Amino acid sequence: MDKVYQLIIIGGGPAGLSAGIYAARSRLDTLLIEKAGLGGNILNAEWVENYPGFPKGVSGAELGSLMAQQAEKYNLPTVFAEAEGIEVRDGEKLLKTSEGQYRAKAVIIAGGSEHSKLGVPGEEEFRGKGVSYCAMCDGAFFRDEAVAVIGGGNVALNDALFITRFVSKVIVIHRRDQLRATKVLQERALANPRMEFIWDTVLESITGDSQVRGLQLRNVKTGAKSNLPVSGVFIAVGLKPNTEYLKGLLALSEGGFILVDGQMETNVPGIFAAGDIRAGSIRQVIAAAGDGAIAAISAERFLSSS
Ligand code: NAP
Repeated sequence: MDKVYQLIIIGGGPAGLSAGIYAARSRLDTLLIEKAGLGGNILNAEWVENYPGFPKGVSGAELGSLMAQQAEKYNLPTVFAEAEGIEVRDGEKLLKTSEGQYRAKAVIIAGGSEHSKLGVPGEEEFRGKGVSYCAMCDGAFFRDEAVAVIGGGNVALNDALFITRFVSKVIVIHRRDQLRATKVLQERALANPRMEFIWDTVLESITGDSQVRGLQLRNVKTGAKSNLPVSGVFIAVGLKPNTEYLKGLLALSEGGFILVDGQMETNVPGIFAAGDIRAGSIRQVIAAAGDGAIAAISAERFLSSS
């Protein structure tokens, strides 16, 4: 507790690991704090096809692991703990975590985001009993069954395409009649014989007994209600930032993302943010890595001028 690090990085996804690589190569006395496993949300991506340097694509698990190895090569110290609060005292940052307190002169927050919930009846009750937010983790449990995916973004279509390997049918339910996902994914999904689409429709509730048996749906244009028998539902309706513990300290956007300037600095001098957690991010691995590098260079400049 007595030690004061030059820099603490919160989060070990692509943004945090990139910041860690830059900071370690600048010989900043740095600590990285990660709550689960190094790699972040990318570990849940089956295949990443748009990260330069991998012309054949790379699994999310491998890309995350390669980034972690690169950070480890520079002996970046890592503590596995959950950040719970930051206090600023005389410019020094006191970070409270589930495993104790740490002090630093500068902090980079790269804690990423987590899956948004729909908030419909049955969603909590059947979580782990047919309701899932992770196709990579749970897709194989639904062998030869029919499942639904809610959402029309990249994650929804990636999830649905992945699940087609196991199930008899994937029904994508989207609240509009236009998908948000990138065109390449749309083309692949629309051409997949195991995928069906229900347009202009929202999920109203999830029903079942010991596990999910069906979905109550409502067409937003006609108001017509229907019941769709499925044994699983994967919810992929976007991401929400892990910034609950920063309210009151940092300026946040309406959606709870951290507001930063072009140097990734927040409204508090010496606190930076990078990756999915910051407002305005395009939420791509490459952008997170770029943010991490900018934040680390900015932190180094801050440290050398303070
Ligand atoms: P997203 O792009 O924000 O898409 C969320 C989807 O959920 C949208 O289709 C949205 O509908 C729908 N939705 C949101 N709230 C809803 C609600 N209450 N009820 C029903 N539907 C709802 O989020 P994402 O797919 O999770 O992706 C997150 C980020 O990661 C994105 O920026 C994405 O580009 C990025 N990503 C990129 C790749 C890649 O291959 N490049 C892969 C994975 C993720 P509307 O379309 O009507 O808004």
